[in-house]
Amino acid sequence: MKKQDQISGEAWYAIEDSGIFDKLKASKGGLSPEEVKSRREIYGENKLPEGKKVTLLEIILHQLLNPLIFILIAAAIASVAIGEAKDAIFIFLVIFINSAVGTYQEYNAEKSAATLQKLLRIKASVRREEKQLKIPSEELVPGDVVLLESGIKVPADIRIIESSGLEIDESLLTGESVSVKKQSGTLNKNLGIAERTNMAFAGSTVLYGRGWGLVVSTGLETEVGKISKHVTESESAKPPLVQRMEKFIQQIGILIIVLSLIIGGMLHIQGLAIMDIFFFVVALAVSAIPEGLPVALTVALSIAAKRMAKRNVIVRKLNSVESLGSCTVIASDKTGTLTVNEQTAKRVILPDGSILNIQGEGYNGDGKVFRKNEPDKEIHFSENREIQKICRIAVCANEASLTKENNQWVHYGDSMDVALLGMSYKFGLDPENSSSEKDPPDLIPYESERKFSAAFCKNNNIDLKGAVETVLDFCDTMSIDGSPVELNRNFILEQADKLAKQGYRVLAFANRKCPNYEKKKNYEPEDIPKLTFYGLVGFIDPLRREAILSVEQCKKAGIKVIMITGDHPSTAKTLARELGIANEDTIVVNGKMLLEANSPNAKAYKDLVADSTVFARVSPSQKLEIVGVLIDEGEFVAVTGDGVNDAPALKRANIGVAMGSGTDVAKEVGSMIVVDDNFSSIVAGVEEGRFAYDNVRKVIYLLISTGAAEVILFICSILAGLPLPLLAVQLLWLNLVTNGIQDVALAFEKGEPGAMIRKPRSPSEKIFNPLMVKQTLVSSATIATIVFGLWYWINTYTEMEETHARNLILLLMVFMQNFHVFNCRSERVSAFKIPLKKNMILVFGVLMAQGIHILSMQIPFMQNILRIEPISLKEWFYILLLAIPIILVMELFKLFNAKNGKRTKAVEINSRN
Ligand code: ADP
Ligand code: MG
Repeated sequence: MKKQDQISGEAWYAIEDSGIFDKLKASKGGLSPEEVKSRREIYGENKLPEGKKVTLLEIILHQLLNPLIFILIAAAIASVAIGEAKDAIFIFLVIFINSAVGTYQEYNAEKSAATLQKLLRIKASVRREEKQLKIPSEELVPGDVVLLESGIKVPADIRIIESSGLEIDESLLTGESVSVKKQSGTLNKNLGIAERTNMAFAGSTVLYGRGWGLVVSTGLETEVGKISKHVTESESAKPPLVQRMEKFIQQIGILIIVLSLIIGGMLHIQGLAIMDIFFFVVALAVSAIPEGLPVALTVALSIAAKRMAKRNVIVRKLNSVESLGSCTVIASDKTGTLTVNEQTAKRVILPDGSILNIQGEGYNGDGKVFRKNEPDKEIHFSENREIQKICRIAVCANEASLTKENNQWVHYGDSMDVALLGMSYKFGLDPENSSSEKDPPDLIPYESERKFSAAFCKNNNIDLKGAVETVLDFCDTMSIDGSPVELNRNFILEQADKLAKQGYRVLAFANRKCPNYEKKKNYEPEDIPKLTFYGLVGFIDPLRREAILSVEQCKKAGIKVIMITGDHPSTAKTLARELGIANEDTIVVNGKMLLEANSPNAKAYKDLVADSTVFARVSPSQKLEIVGVLIDEGEFVAVTGDGVNDAPALKRANIGVAMGSGTDVAKEVGSMIVVDDNFSSIVAGVEEGRFAYDNVRKVIYLLISTGAAEVILFICSILAGLPLPLLAVQLLWLNLVTNGIQDVALAFEKGEPGAMIRKPRSPSEKIFNPLMVKQTLVSSATIATIVFGLWYWINTYTEMEETHARNLILLLMVFMQNFHVFNCRSERVSAFKIPLKKNMILVFGVLMAQGIHILSMQIPFMQNILRIEPISLKEWFYILLLAIPIILVMELFKLFNAKNGKRTKAVEINSRN
């Protein structure tokens, strides 16, 4: 097969069903590894050109195209004009270093975002050499046998060979929002894409049903590939927090420029030369405007995203990082999230009430079955008619596989179905051998809103398994001693409830042999005749032990945990009690109760949602309603989901959490993905989210308070009629050497121990809340007061030479900022209580800033530019002592704040109870 074939625009939909395999040199069992390899060489990877990446050049330009840089360049040119070339050199040095640091940070943030994106690639289910595999979809080649099931994204253009109830959303290609029914068959030539109903196109999503087919084209040759230029979506990459900050900086920038101009005016009145005033105003504006903030915030968020990925949470957009921290309710699935989803069939109850116990654990067929009261008599599937039937239903209405290869059990597919195959082995029935009987049944596949699956077999058997109530609705009789008797519905429901109360997940089994049922292409539930009930099977799915701890953690953090499940209310309650989210008195709200409470707007409905923590037998649409009610009540809700039907709820939620094992559809709408499905990972994500938000605040706090301190210092000096405490170049240097190194280091803070015993922050809370305003004012006033005090004292009481005096002031400012960064490590906890080793980057950053400054005082070139000189150790030490109060004052501030906080908290708690 040559590439030519593919390019020639073959009308794949019009080829005869039988001819398609020949044409693609393919077979039902799939390609061999050699064939795959050689085809990959011809056709390349199955992917579209990636969306435009941000290039290094763009990042550099982004750094340089900044009004402040223009002003600096103007200042540099002006210095050359008046013959101060060394100032110009220094200004260019500042521009260069600033932009280099900014570029490096931005580039890193971009790179780690790209790495995270890679983790989100979709996988395809293929059959190769008779084996079912999951492979990255890039590795598909024409001729591959691909499985389609509800929830997946179609990975390539596929000609459908077999299907049942397959419906696909092709809106990406056709713009048509109604899903299209798909089935095999040969079509006429010259059909539009929307009419090619025997094809599944890359990029569309399977909404219902199952099917399989052959890959006909990949990568750019697919229909979506041909128009790929139009569909590469352009995402606005900036998180809202960063956008808000940019706006904020614009505002603060204008304020500072106005202030600088006023200061300039005052300097003019004092008789300073215009050129000096110009330089000074530029330097003040550049230093005090926190232009590095957006990049520092992006860095903080992307560090957090990386940390979350390490804890199995992948965020799809940086803004979910900050929002996770304010989550007040986590609405979790049960199966797989709170439990390990390793189903094992443990118990069988027959319609006559007799009980069988099944040995063993996990996804394998090792174990035996015994009657409850006869532990030495092994039960074989041929024991009686009921057991025979249960086993055949288990094997036939089944989409999974479980086989033993080289003494290793290998499984594929739905966990309940795998567990049932395990059960069948234990009854002595090899599902592989019995498959001749089932081959190939037509399925009504399991979908969570249906709660059952059914098989229409060639030998006229109809097999059904699913939730008890659902299955019983299909039955009119039950089998006792091999013959059908009248159905005793209540008795069976009682037995099921008993199992559920012990924590078992329950499935019911029914069958009928009907000599004359109609053969069809697609079966609907209406096609199922009245059946005979054959028994119940109870499964154990162990709780995730770590989830118990995480629920505890949520309680401390003020987060409510609720369970929303499609499972039986009693099973749900038993597990919820073990987890600690329900007690004996908790009323489990079920789907029927919600239905009876009328609409989600009704008060009765709202009360049901507000009062309960466990929701069972809930349909996906009710899940959406519950989420809506919670959000309307002012909660900030994280919701987990995995199925196609969960997508609306995930979208509606403040934070949609898709399961790693879930469908592509869920992953696409979720704002984050929990790789290991684990509830504990979600809680870890919340914790990281809180850390990240704290860190963001720390960076902002540092930059704003030091900038403010500089402005206050200069205003005071001018009002007092003193000379400028720092020269323009010194101001630029200060900004470069301290904050340039220190601010990003704060983004690496590991998080404070108290973060998870605080109440969630309100999502509408502003970064500049009262605490931020207070701490910024207190700290900047303190810094300004001390430095101004020194400047005043020197000018009034000493004869110190001005150059030397400025040298001291500059060193004092460097020290102040060196120390203040330790204050910023926490807004609440004492700086002395946070171990230094938790952020060595910060410690090195501070030492480096101080070190570079001391070094510059020794280097003639720098001495010359900065008008500085070496100072004695004694002076250095005195200046260090002078800087210490900034720590002491902020320690007192925290202490005072904590006391106040406790008092208000106590009042709050009292008023709540
Ligand atoms: P959960 O919320 O715990 O994930 P599901 O929505 O997956 O619950 O399942 C709901 C009910 O559907 C289960 O209680 C069970 O009775 C039935 N069920 C689950 N899986 C299957 C399956 N593979 N075949 C038939 N019925 C199933
Ligand atoms: Mg489920």
